[in-house]
Amino acid sequence: MDERHGTGPGRVVLATRNAGKIRELQALLAPLGVDVLGLTAYPGIGEIPETGETFLENARIKARAVCAATGLVSLADDSGLCVDALSGAPGVYSARFSGEGATDEANNAKLLAALAHVPAAGRTCRFVSVVVAACPDGRELAAEGAWEGRVAFEPAGEGGFGYDPLFFDPTAGKTAAQLVPEEKNARSHRGKALAKLVAAWPGFWDGAEGEKR
Ligand code: IMP
Repeated sequence: MDERHGTGPGRVVLATRNAGKIRELQALLAPLGVDVLGLTAYPGIGEIPETGETFLENARIKARAVCAATGLVSLADDSGLCVDALSGAPGVYSARFSGEGATDEANNAKLLAALAHVPAAGRTCRFVSVVVAACPDGRELAAEGAWEGRVAFEPAGEGGFGYDPLFFDPTAGKTAAQLVPEEKNARSHRGKALAKLVAAWPGFWDGAEGEKR
């Protein structure tokens, strides 16, 4: 039983198959006291084209598609790395920076090459995350978070995923890949967006009474 709301735990489906994101989102959503499932639990749902031009548009597209397919409250994160010296790129194209089906290694190599002649002071960047929760009754909850850093000159660290080995946090003095998960979640764009979403959650979730399974 969910003791805070007295209606049983309920389920929320995350609109992602990215194992790194599922791990982080499950940890960050633990305070909600609901079961948080990744899209891997719904193999019938195919690839969702991210046709939006902003993080918010893409997060809404993903959350809505999974909500329609499952009939459950669904939560999507759209996120990426915005590099000032590249006019905000790769931004919403972060996952496919080096082409469709790109690997993290290929994306990181392309980023390093693009900044090869940019000195330390010009390598400012930020991770941005927009999270959207979509309810079958049409209501939505959205929140945004950002994490300021610099693009390192070479990868460092084994943790995290994506651009983490190249994202240097000057305050921590480490790359995101050198932070333990708890440290990353406390500082990250996704952690900040989720903290706002968690704060607004009870009103949203209580209104979803008929939709819980
Ligand atoms: P999305 O699945 O379309 O939101 O793609 C997000 C992409 O942005 C990921 O595939 C990564 O390349 C990058 N990204 C987003 N958040 C992070 C993070 O926390 N660490 C490293 N890379 C990230």
